[in-house]
Amino acid sequence: MTIIITGGAGFIGSNFIFYMMKKYPDYRIICLDKLTYAGNLSTLTPVMNKPNFRFVKMDICDRKAVYHLFEEEHPDIVVNFAAESHVDRSIKNPEIFLETNVIGTSVLMDACRIYGILRYHQISTDEVYGDLPLDRPDLFFTEKTPLRPSSPYSSSKAGADLLAGAYCRTYGLPVTISRCSNNYGPYQFPEKLIPLTLQKALANQPIPVYGDGKNIRDWLYVEDHCRAIDLILQKGKPGEIYNIGGHNEMANMDIVKLILRELGKPESLITHVPDRKGHDRRYAIDPTKIHKDLGWMPETKLPQGIKKTIHWYLEHQDWWMGLKNS
Ligand code: NAD
Repeated sequence: MTIIITGGAGFIGSNFIFYMMKKYPDYRIICLDKLTYAGNLSTLTPVMNKPNFRFVKMDICDRKAVYHLFEEEHPDIVVNFAAESHVDRSIKNPEIFLETNVIGTSVLMDACRIYGILRYHQISTDEVYGDLPLDRPDLFFTEKTPLRPSSPYSSSKAGADLLAGAYCRTYGLPVTISRCSNNYGPYQFPEKLIPLTLQKALANQPIPVYGDGKNIRDWLYVEDHCRAIDLILQKGKPGEIYNIGGHNEMANMDIVKLILRELGKPESLITHVPDRKGHDRRYAIDPTKIHKDLGWMPETKLPQGIKKTIHWYLEHQDWWMGLKNS
């Protein structure tokens, strides 16, 4: 089995490469990554010299180069993690989000339909559903929830999802889509809430929290996400969408306080900053479908996952120290 994993030098993609290489040592894994500010080649050092691994520096929007890679490698599966992924950056500059997240996805799927593929898997996000009110804890996103994205980031991801569905219906491309909640764990770029908080706290610097900090996210340990994607590749049905989330909801402010407690740092480091434009209030996934159809359940509870993540960042300061001002 030959798999192209795009965006594999980023946070979730690199964790997925490690997961797959450990679980399927006979698979050939090709990582395709443009190495934007969010991609870090040093993350892949542990697998770089393995005979069944290849790294290719490439832009998924570069049609000629992507087609050439497909001609060379004849992949059986493509898993597309490559994306511009930070909401704040999308508010400042939407264009690159449309290029990579929408056009790039169409280039990959064109290559899949021209050269043939067993499965194209699109990594999406629960943010395509927009947000839920804070005062309705009974509401959750299901796969049938209408798309109502709030930011340029989430609308570009929703656009890619619609395109993936259309390629499935129009060309019969065997597409699956997964929409996951917020991930955390090793190798996350320190612009996102958890690694940013850790980095600032360790340096005794002010920790920025948007608005009132009451925004709720449904946190998933990255390895649980990787296991879910693997299950979808093995047992998921083409044409289907799977929501991935673990009923691990917590307000941003409570996450920050939890990290400060674990590190023994004072809450006086918390600094309120003006709220993000269009800031979504609550995300919460209903994972019934992936649980019933594929038997997936998250294994890591939030407090335990946060402990593991803190431990990893403390042990790997050399990894994130160089990145912090990028
Ligand atoms: P990330 O920003 O850490 O990594 C993105 C990777 O994609 C980087 O290595 C970057 O170099 C690469 N890339 C960007 N543009 C590219 C291009 N044009 N061609 C090739 N490579 C390119 O992102 P992440 O947090 O690992 O997210 C991965 C995927 O998962 C994204 O599609 C994101 O929308 C989705 N997702 C993320 C989360 C989360 O909490 N991080 C939650 C749900 C879904």
